[in-house]
Amino acid sequence: MALTLYKKKRSFKDTPEPTGGKGNKGALRFVVQKHDASRLHYDFRLEMEGVLKSWAVPKGPSLNPVDKRLAMMVEDHPYDYKDFEGIIPEGNYGAGTVIVWDEGTYEPLEPTGDKAKDEKALLKALKSGSLKVNMHGHKLKGEFALVRLKGKEENAWLLIKHRDKYAKETDITKKDKSVVSGKTIAQTEKTSTNVWGSNRAAKTRQAVREDTNRGGKTPVKKKPAPKRLRQKQA
Ligand code: MN
Repeated sequence: MALTLYKKKRSFKDTPEPTGGKGNKGALRFVVQKHDASRLHYDFRLEMEGVLKSWAVPKGPSLNPVDKRLAMMVEDHPYDYKDFEGIIPEGNYGAGTVIVWDEGTYEPLEPTGDKAKDEKALLKALKSGSLKVNMHGHKLKGEFALVRLKGKEENAWLLIKHRDKYAKETDITKKDKSVVSGKTIAQTEKTSTNVWGSNRAAKTRQAVREDTNRGGKTPVKKKPAPKRLRQKQA
């Protein structure tokens, strides 16, 4: 149920993005993907009950507790999406280049040692609009909070670093390489082979658009996305 919106937005024969996947029994995973779509942003994703709860962070995470970063909650993504690095072809939702900017494990501030219990507590915190986690990534370490903004745009949250020994004033987004491939967005764009299949490469954008719209169904009326994210950012 949680991935309905994710699937509705994509045409899987035209994009190498994952369709599903399952979480494992070990630690909870997180990923931050840098996504050069119509506007550059970072997708902050936390595994919870087999999917990735996701926020688009226009400026990217900060290790400085003073920098509260706007994070727009977007649709859940499949668990396997955490490994996705490559090109989302033109004509598809979120078209552009994606790198795994950071990844690792995370847990609630007071872990129980039981993954299922931790996930329940995290989901409850998520619903309440205040989620606190301890992150073990290559770039993001220590405590972070996600706090839903009241009375603002729907789905608007803040991503905030807590003051701990990992808090820093230096700009962590300057570390701009993938923690998986060591490549920047620009290098990935030039060299990635994880791209729309070469057998379809000759297809025009128009053909892709027709494919995406095939079936002739009346498009479902969607609520407009919040202003800042209206341009295909998620
Ligand atoms: Mn994105």
